[in-house]
Amino acid sequence: MGCNPELISAFLDSELDSIILTEVMDHLLRCDACGRTLDKLATVKSVVADRFFLPDPEDLTGSVMSAISNDHMESPSGGMIAFLKKIGIS
Ligand SMILES: [Zn+2]
Repeated sequence: MGCNPELISAFLDSELDSIILTEVMDHLLRCDACGRTLDKLATVKSVVADRFFLPDPEDLTGSVMSAISNDHMESPSGGMIAFLKKIGIS
């Protein structure tokens, strides 16, 4: 697949089915541009999440959000692999 910011956004929202998810993650691991897009979107989404709702820790979205806020606190440019490890995918 090629670069697709809409798929990256859907990935962060846990809206992808498993087949597409694998392709998007594979692309993110190899593409620096999309890694940066992911960082930007993750920052925006974590700000929105903090402002409008408390994530459920049992939910994948909650795990992603907490991983993102931890990553944001410790190191704003943690990188894709560190990000995936934090949310338990890699
Ligand atoms: Zn890309």
